[in-house]
Amino acid sequence: MKVRTETPVPYHVAKPLSADDERWMREALALARDAQARGEVPVGAVVVCDGKIVGRGGNAPIERNDPTAHAEITALRAAAAALGNYRLPACDLYVTLEPCAMCAGAVMHTRLSRLVFGARDPKTGACGSVIDLFAEHRLNHHTSVTGEVLAAECGALLSAFFAARRAET
Ligand code: ZN
Repeated sequence: MKVRTETPVPYHVAKPLSADDERWMREALALARDAQARGEVPVGAVVVCDGKIVGRGGNAPIERNDPTAHAEITALRAAAAALGNYRLPACDLYVTLEPCAMCAGAVMHTRLSRLVFGARDPKTGACGSVIDLFAEHRLNHHTSVTGEVLAAECGALLSAFFAARRAET
């Protein structure tokens, strides 16, 4: 997969607002590497609340026979269980790849404060690359979006994974 990094930045995608953005994205990257070691597409996510990780997720649809087992969904479920709430308005989600439409929808249902993603996904990205659900003001959402944090590092992991898989076949 070719990961674009030169995509024009949509109006709502700001540069990193928090000095901790790269720190949390590195935690998500570690989970992406774990997913890769399990033979999954390397995507990882963490949910952060009050300066602490309250949910972790690595991409696992193959292992779990579950098409919804994306890193974001797994991390949001873990965070909601840990905090005992199905809404997480004080939490931020960090994910190494731009969320798909399913995960963007889950972010909206969770009412997160902030979504921070790494590499853009020109095939399924729902934060501006294919469609932009967060620019759709008819949808009720409360989440601000920051894109392309450690984008090169997040994208390189994916590119290397797909290059290796192509070489196997
Ligand atoms: Zn997804």
